[in-house]
Amino acid sequence: MATCKNVQNIGAIDCIGRGFESCISTTYDHSLNDVNCTFCGQCIESCPTGALHEKENINDVWAKLKDPDTFVVAQTAPSIRVALGEEFGMEIGTNVTGKMVSALKALGFDKVFDTNTGADFTIMEEATEFVKRFKGNDNLPMTTSCCPGWVRFAEMEYPENLPHLSSCKSPHQMFGAVIKSYYAEKNNIDPSKIYVVSVMPCIAKKYESQREEMQVDGIRDVDSVITTRELARMIKQANIEFDKLEDEVFDNPMGEASGAGAIFGVTGGVMEAALRTAYELMTGEELQKLEFEDVRGAKGIKKATIQIGDKEVKVAVAHGLGNARKIMEEIKNGTADYSFVEIMACPGGCIMGGGQPIKNAKTRMTVDVRAKRAASMYSIDERSTIRKSHENPILKKIYKDYIGKPGEHRAHELLHTYYTPMKEYRI
Ligand code: SF4
Ligand code: SF4
Repeated sequence: MATCKNVQNIGAIDCIGRGFESCISTTYDHSLNDVNCTFCGQCIESCPTGALHEKENINDVWAKLKDPDTFVVAQTAPSIRVALGEEFGMEIGTNVTGKMVSALKALGFDKVFDTNTGADFTIMEEATEFVKRFKGNDNLPMTTSCCPGWVRFAEMEYPENLPHLSSCKSPHQMFGAVIKSYYAEKNNIDPSKIYVVSVMPCIAKKYESQREEMQVDGIRDVDSVITTRELARMIKQANIEFDKLEDEVFDNPMGEASGAGAIFGVTGGVMEAALRTAYELMTGEELQKLEFEDVRGAKGIKKATIQIGDKEVKVAVAHGLGNARKIMEEIKNGTADYSFVEIMACPGGCIMGGGQPIKNAKTRMTVDVRAKRAASMYSIDERSTIRKSHENPILKKIYKDYIGKPGEHRAHELLHTYYTPMKEYRI
């Protein structure tokens, strides 16, 4: 309740009723769908009694895994690999990529792909869109759109600002659309028989995957979303000894990803990844220093001016919806002088998402969980051989053979979306 009101600045839940009948709920006890809840899940992470939890999708996934006629694909978000080990007693921030892939294969998934590749698609589209909008001074600042909690917040609270949002779908939605089109076609699989399960650090992505517009030609991009916690529960239900698993690698050809895709999960990561590509698109020159230190770190709103060729590009990064509101007010009253803004609903970004392993109050007060998980993500980027999304060879091949150019017709059909003002859903 306090997190929702004081950190997220939403106030979707509060104490209602009197005396013995008082309880925590929404205004007039409405469904969370019908109030201004953004589904960020931060209340779950901080609930002192453990009374709140996500709506599980585990049973749907088990049913599909047992169905021999369904080709079940898992894709895992950047943040899962630096947090899943915590559910099995490992040190906070341990990178368990190899064991995570191994566990998903042991659970029976037909293919295990990396959403970091989906993040590379997002950067290709978003950086292309930004460069076009920057040159044409079109609805600037452009804001990122890969966080469904933030998108729902904007649709409900700032419908007049919706033209500022990038039209890009989030990485797992883009990747689901590519799996059910390009991958299905290349491997001669009927897309209606493919069931895509996204393993996400996020509650809002459950809602996002069910949005009406998240489909192409009547085929849903993503069929089910489970959180890091739900994946850990499945591994425990299957009696898999996680810590004893041998490392395995993602399936190819869709498993290859850049370091830019890897840092999506940390606040500032999407901006940094987009700048690496936007710089080279705008100048035609190779970017020498890939790290944009000014957009890293825990500060609630980070601002920077980036020299790109002869242009100064002002950017801002906000995490947590209280900070998002400050940026949106600036855009609304015309005082925002930035061209590009990254917004993530959860404080810290997806590494601290509402579907991640829950830490008790003592741990939260004594250990900088965000910093440990973030350090692990940046180290994945540093050790990557490809660190820019536009240099990812699998993306180059898929654009050349199937999609065409970023931002063009087929890319829009598969990888972009639209937004709907939702003022009418507010109490
Ligand atoms: S999910 Fe987020 S917006 Fe909804 S009640 Fe919880 S903290 Fe508030
Ligand atoms: S910051 Fe990440 S985990 Fe949190 S709501 Fe947005 S996408 Fe989901």
